[in-house]
Amino acid sequence: MPDRILVVELLGGLGDLVMALPVVHGLAARFPRAELRVLTHDPGAALLDSDPTVTEVLRAARGAEPEAVAAALDDTDLVVSTTRLHGIPELVAEHGTPGVTDLWRSPPPDEPVSRRYVRILAAEGLLARWYRPPRLHLTAAEVAAADAALPSGVPTVLVPGAGMSVKVWPHWAALCGLLDAPVVAVGPGTPAPELPPTDLRGLAARFAAVGCRGGTVIGGDTGPTRVAAAAGARTVGLFGPTLADRYGLDIPGVSLQGLPGCPHRLPTAITEQVCWWEARCPLAPLPACLVDLSPAAVAAAATRRP
Ligand code: SF4
Repeated sequence: MPDRILVVELLGGLGDLVMALPVVHGLAARFPRAELRVLTHDPGAALLDSDPTVTEVLRAARGAEPEAVAAALDDTDLVVSTTRLHGIPELVAEHGTPGVTDLWRSPPPDEPVSRRYVRILAAEGLLARWYRPPRLHLTAAEVAAADAALPSGVPTVLVPGAGMSVKVWPHWAALCGLLDAPVVAVGPGTPAPELPPTDLRGLAARFAAVGCRGGTVIGGDTGPTRVAAAAGARTVGLFGPTLADRYGLDIPGVSLQGLPGCPHRLPTAITEQVCWWEARCPLAPLPACLVDLSPAAVAAAATRRP
């Protein structure tokens, strides 16, 4: 039985960290007496700060990931890494720490990433097969304070921004015309009033408060959308260049897929897709898959009760 477990999540995206939470919580359940540390980047690291299953959150500075991993390995007797970048598998092998550093082996195109992680670790005897969807821990005080920033009623919160232009849905304005008030937005890009800025924990707490009110969050395949689902809000995810079968949200989240038959989509090698880096879609001036997701379909998904 390991006494000191290290989870390394240094893929670089907020959504990547959220997708690794089933691993973190699965290890905590499997080894309840062990110290469990998570090494990741800011700002996502803050999301774990109050997590009772995490003994310590370690921060790696961008550009200094190998040094951070090497230092953390000195106090570790089991390591699980979602990340193969930065020479991490080689560092772990050199250090001689037991663990798993390849959670990307032979990924099936239709198996969700988080479930794939858990399945591999279960096969290695490190996790039970029981899958726990990503969940964030927020304090009651944080959620209560965040609730005050929301409009009265049952809100719909739009998350129009995306770190990559290939993920930007072009129909936000039309959607606003189809939703009942109150509708608010996180950031610019829609006609809806914007919520005041806050930090990442504050945003997660707002999503949790939306969930408590029975509201809905709508966003693209981005980190904040995954944070909303993990914070407990009913969430509708808009999936275009990524395949919802592999990157979609866990139930009760709803994952809508645009242009499911696009022949250019590479579900297990998305960074090699022709459209990925420059948003150059061979089928249309804008990403045809996201154009294909109609405002009416999104509004229907947002208002449908499970
Ligand atoms: S090629 Fe176009 S339609 Fe296909 S996934 Fe990329 S952006 Fe979407």
